[in-house]
Amino acid sequence: MTSLVRRRLTVHGIVQGVGFRPFVYGLATDLELAGFVGNDSIGVFVEVEGATTAVEAFARRLVAEAPPASLIDEVASTVLEPIGSYDFVILTSQPGSSTTLVSPDLDICDDCLAEMNDPQNRRHRYPFINCTNCGPRFSIIAETPYDRSSTTMAEFAMCTMCEAEYSDPFDRRFHAQPNACPTCGPEVWLVRDGAVVEGDSIAATRSIIASGGTVAIKGLGGFHLACDARSPAAVRQLRDRKGRAAKPFAVMAADLATAREIATVDETSADVLTSQAHPIVVMSARPASPLADAVAPGNKTIGVMLPYTPLHHLLMESGDVWVMTSGNRSSEPIVIENDSAADRLGELSDAQLLHNRSIQRPVDDSVVRSYGGGVSPIRRSRGFAPYPMRLGFESRPALAVGGELKATLAIAARSQAFMSQHIGDMENVETLDTFATTANDLSRLFRIDPEVLVCDRHPRYLSREWAYANADGRTVIEVQHHHAHIASLLAEHRRNEPVIGFAFDGTGYGLDGTIWGGEVLVGRLNGFERAGHLAAFELPGGDAAVARPYRTALSLLRRFGVPWDIGLPAVAAAGTTERGVLAHQIESGLNTVLTSSVGRLFDGVSSLAGVCQTVSYEGQAAIELEAIADFSMPGAPYEFAVVDVDGTLVVDPTPVVTAVARETLAGAAPGAISASFHRGLANAVRDVAVAVRDSTGISVAGLSGGVFQNAVLVELTVDALTAAGFDVLTHRYVPANDGGLALGQIALAAHIA
Ligand SMILES: [Zn+2]
Ligand SMILES: [Zn+2]
Ligand SMILES: [Zn+2]
Repeated sequence: MTSLVRRRLTVHGIVQGVGFRPFVYGLATDLELAGFVGNDSIGVFVEVEGATTAVEAFARRLVAEAPPASLIDEVASTVLEPIGSYDFVILTSQPGSSTTLVSPDLDICDDCLAEMNDPQNRRHRYPFINCTNCGPRFSIIAETPYDRSSTTMAEFAMCTMCEAEYSDPFDRRFHAQPNACPTCGPEVWLVRDGAVVEGDSIAATRSIIASGGTVAIKGLGGFHLACDARSPAAVRQLRDRKGRAAKPFAVMAADLATAREIATVDETSADVLTSQAHPIVVMSARPASPLADAVAPGNKTIGVMLPYTPLHHLLMESGDVWVMTSGNRSSEPIVIENDSAADRLGELSDAQLLHNRSIQRPVDDSVVRSYGGGVSPIRRSRGFAPYPMRLGFESRPALAVGGELKATLAIAARSQAFMSQHIGDMENVETLDTFATTANDLSRLFRIDPEVLVCDRHPRYLSREWAYANADGRTVIEVQHHHAHIASLLAEHRRNEPVIGFAFDGTGYGLDGTIWGGEVLVGRLNGFERAGHLAAFELPGGDAAVARPYRTALSLLRRFGVPWDIGLPAVAAAGTTERGVLAHQIESGLNTVLTSSVGRLFDGVSSLAGVCQTVSYEGQAAIELEAIADFSMPGAPYEFAVVDVDGTLVVDPTPVVTAVARETLAGAAPGAISASFHRGLANAVRDVAVAVRDSTGISVAGLSGGVFQNAVLVELTVDALTAAGFDVLTHRYVPANDGGLALGQIALAAHIA
C-alpha cells in the first residue's frame, strides 16, 4: 500500500480571475488527489492529499501547466499530516488583509473568438464573450479579492446557462467572473444625434466610418474616437474637431496581414502585437502605405494595434485600418462613462457606440516602440497595469506620485511595487481628479497604507503639490527628477551597483534650481553625483522656447558664438522684431531660464537644420529630426567638446552648433545633418562614459529619460558603449520617459536614510 501524504501550497502571483482554481481542481482530480483550493487576498492556497508520487506530480505540474493568463511569482509549500480527505473541493473566496495581485485586462482568446464566429453558438456575434483565459479584469474590478460581486458585472444576474458554466469545474467559464451571454449580459447600442439608432448597431457604425464619419466607441478601458485611416478628409476632420494639429494618431488594423500593408512588422513586433496585452506597437511605416498623411504627419513610424475585444473583431473586417485615438478632449483624461460621452465626445463624433458594462477606471492603450529587433515601452497601461514589479529591495509602504507629464503613480510595500496605468499630463483639473482617484484606488486595491509619499523636487509640479496637500502628517520625500530616471532603470533591472547614468530629457528641476536634462549621474540607489552635463544655455521665454524651437536655436547660436545668418531657417523663422526681443532677452537674462537639456538641444538642431520651427505636441521637433536621419549620405559624426570644469565633465556643443549652421548654409541635406548629429551625440556619451570609467572603475552605463525614446539614438549609443566594453542598461519594463519616474522615486525613497 502506498503511503498517504498531505501538502499545503500557497501560490503568489497573478492567480485570480485567470482560471487558476479550476485548473487546480482539474489537476487534482486528474491525479486522484483529495483536498481543497481557495483564494484569498494573498493568492491561491491548495491542500492536496494522496499518494506521494501523485502529490509530487501535482506540485510540479501546478507550475509547469499553469493557465496561460496566470503569472506565478512564488509557491510556498508545507508538509501536513494526512487527515483522510476523500474528495476535492473549491472553496469560495475569503476576504483577507494582505496584498493581492490583480490581473491586467486580457485580449480575447482563440476559443472565444471561434465561438463568437460560429453561427451555431449561443454567443454568435456577442460582443461581451469571455472566459477564464480572456476578457476584462483591471478595468472592471472594484475591490479585491476578485469575485463577480466586486466587479462592474455585479449588476448582471447570470441566466441558468451561464450559471451552469460558471459552476462547472470542467467548463472554460468556471468562475469566469465577467461571464455573460446575449440573454443575461451587457449589450451595445448606437446613439446618433441624441437618439438610439434602430437595427444593427455594428453595421451602422461601419457605415458611418466608411462614409468618412467619426464614431466614439466605448471599449475596454475607455472610449476611442474611430475613423477611416485611409481617408484624408476623415482624418483631417477628426484633427480639426479634436484640436490636435500634428500629434500622430494610433491606428487599429483588422488583422496582422492588414498591419503588414502599412508597417514593417518584424518577428518581435508580430509577437508583441498579438501578445495578451495587445499594445500599440510603433513600427516603421511602409513608404507606400495607403494611410492618409494626416495620420502621422512628419513621422516615418506608425503606431498600430490589433483588435483586442470581441467588439473590435465584430466591427472590423480584413483590410480595415481605423484611427483609434483616446476618446477625450485635448489633454483631458480618457472618457469612460456613457453620460460624459454625450457631453465631452458629442461634438467630436458623429455617433456614439455605447454599452452598459461599466468601466471601473480609465485604462488607456499601452504603447511600445519596436526597434533593432526588440521593443521598449513608451506607455505602460492596458494589458500591463497593474502587474507588480518585483523589487530588488524592501520598501516601506510608500506612494510615489511621479512627475508632471505622462503621469503615473506607484505604490509599494515589502518587495513589490505596483505601477498605475497611464493618467495623462497634469495640466487640468480633470487629470488631477483622475490622479487623486488613482492614488486612493491603488491603496485600496492592494491594501497598502502608504507611510511616506515621494515626489519630484519641482516646486511647480501639481503632483508635488498634491503630495503635500494629502500628506496628513506623513513624511514627504522629495527626489531629484533625473536621479529618479536612473533609479527607475536600476530598479527595473533589480540592480543596485554603481552606474554611469545618462539621464537625457526635455526638462527636470535641477539641484541648483536650473532646468536639467543632459545629466551624467554616477552612483546608485542611495544617491548620485552629477559627474557631468551638457553645457547650459538660455531658454528665452522658457515655455515659449519649447513651443517655438527656433528661439532655442537662436539662443544656441548666440551662446556658442555663431552669428545669426538670415540664410538659416531658424533665423528667418523669427521676424526682425522677435529677433530684437530675443537678443535683448538672451543678453540681459531677462525672462530666460538656464538649461542643460538635451531635449532642447534636439529642438535647436531640428530648427537650425530647417526641419521644425514650431511644435504642437511635446517632442515634435526631436521626433521629426529623428525621422529624417539618413545614414546613407556621406558625413562624419559631429564632435562635441568634452571639457573638465573643476572635476565636472561639461559636454560643449559649440563645434556641433557651428557645424550644423555651416552645413545648413552650404545646402546640406537635413537628413545628413540629422545623422551626423545623432552619431556625434552617441560618441559624446561614449567618451564621457570612458572618462568616468577611467576615474572610477565603473563599467556599467545606463540610459534613461525621454530623449532615449529615440530609437536611432538608443541604437547608436548602445553600440558605441558596447564596443567600448560597457555593460549597458536600457528600459525594458517601464518607460524611459516620465511615465517611469514613479518607480525610480520608490527606489530612491527606500534607500535614502
Ligand atoms: Zn476566452
Ligand atoms: Zn447568460
Ligand atoms: Zn524626465
